[in-house]
Amino acid sequence: MPQPLAGIASRIAAVRSRADDAARTAGRDPREVRVLLATKTQDAATVLDAVAAAAGTPGWGPVLVGENRVQELVAKAPALAPLVAAGTVEVHLIGHLQSNKVNPALATSSCVETVDSLAIATALATRCERAGRVLDVMVQVNVSGEESKSGVAPESAVALAGEVAALPGLRLVGFMTIGARSRDDAVVRAGYARLRAIRDAVVGSGAPGTAEARELSMGMTDDLEAAIAEGATIVRVGTGIFGPR
Ligand SMILES: *Cc1c(COP(=O)(O)O)cnc(C)c1O
Repeated sequence: MPQPLAGIASRIAAVRSRADDAARTAGRDPREVRVLLATKTQDAATVLDAVAAAAGTPGWGPVLVGENRVQELVAKAPALAPLVAAGTVEVHLIGHLQSNKVNPALATSSCVETVDSLAIATALATRCERAGRVLDVMVQVNVSGEESKSGVAPESAVALAGEVAALPGLRLVGFMTIGARSRDDAVVRAGYARLRAIRDAVVGSGAPGTAEARELSMGMTDDLEAAIAEGATIVRVGTGIFGPR
């Protein structure tokens, strides 16, 4: 059932105010935290409603839209293209990327948050270099160690980030994780703190291409406060904006 625009607008305002409160509680500037609309399973019309509402929310800036599946990115790309061209929307891939989907992913997104191997990074870099463009990427880290989750192991993350940052055609902008499925706030926060420590180690390494790797994409509807407390710069929210899937 389509969600009425007023409903989406008020939920977006509520999520934004949760993020603002969490930032202030952590002694951070709320403008350091962006809210990405996690739009999986939502149709293009609903995504456009949400983008319009988010674009009208003070402090929001360019609206980040994140899709999990390349197929959905491709399906919604025509609707989003004018907004992308106008600089109103920035599209991120937030789901696992398979090497046979690199071309459509590149055609429809400006940031791949889910680079978790040198192989996929190299596949992206090769095509970007050939096309004369630069793609923003994040290294996805599996901080919880849960088998169902993608991402490089925390022990290997700093090394992988250094290799990715050195590739032509890619700009390493930060790190992404999906938090632990735990009701224990301490466990969830420890995972997010781990991602921050990895980020700090990489930026502090002085290795080529690592200076701009400041983003921490972490936290979803249920745990965005914990993520912001640990330094999140992007929280990815689906349910809190679009309702249960
Ligand atoms: C679905 C999804 C989200 C949003 O999760 P909600 O709990 O619905 O807010 C964030 N990140 C990723 C990678 C997702 O797949």
